[in-house]
Amino acid sequence: MNADLERLILLQQLDSTADAARRRLAEGPEREKALDARLDAARHRVAAAKDQLARNQGARRELEKEVAVHQNRLSKFRDQLMAVKTNVEYQAVQKEIGFAQGEVKAIEDKVLERMLEADELTAAAKRAETELAAEQKAVDADRRALNAEHTELQSTIERVTGERAAAVGAIDKQVLAIFEMVSRKRNGVAVAEARDGICTICHVRLRPQVFNTVRRNDAITQCDTCQRILYFASKNEVQGSGFSVQGSGSAGSNPS
Ligand SMILES: [Zn+2]
Repeated sequence: MNADLERLILLQQLDSTADAARRRLAEGPEREKALDARLDAARHRVAAAKDQLARNQGARRELEKEVAVHQNRLSKFRDQLMAVKTNVEYQAVQKEIGFAQGEVKAIEDKVLERMLEADELTAAAKRAETELAAEQKAVDADRRALNAEHTELQSTIERVTGERAAAVGAIDKQVLAIFEMVSRKRNGVAVAEARDGICTICHVRLRPQVFNTVRRNDAITQCDTCQRILYFASKNEVQGSGFSVQGSGSAGSNPS
């Protein structure tokens, strides 16, 4: 293989590696935000559960006050009962007592409902706390992994930058200029594999003589369409018919 072509392939690998690392690093703030959002959601569930429990307890206290009011009335009626003179009065007070007892019973039933509900709400609040603790642990672990990944990405970028500087020095200046120009125009991808007679990045079919030249890998050849520098990887050649009618990637999106 042409030595410069070989160096350009390496250069492209280095650029693509660095590019991917930079893009992944750039996602860092979003990924941090997603971790914060997970914790916020878990904290919110705890707060909501505690709030429900507090409202339950408030409602129960109100009901107990009502019971006390009716109990008070009951004891007054019982006092009155001692003082009544006639059977009619006696029955009237007795009726009031019966009514107040009914009230107390109804409210006490409601208190009981609230107490049962409180058991569920207390359990739910505890579950939310447990889940928050678990989420905190998981988020801490994810944050550590994220930081470790960032450190590794940084060191990848540093390593690649060093390797790139070394690789660039060995490449013919004119060839390098072509690479850099195409790289700028084509989103950082200046080298493309030619396979089955097609440029695998812009998916346009190469002229037969261009593909034949590329197959030899002994010169710097550019795609007529996207200008990328083409190379041929023999291991990827599946069948001998490089120029079949139906191109594998000629339809669909064109990322060039
Ligand atoms: Zn192309």
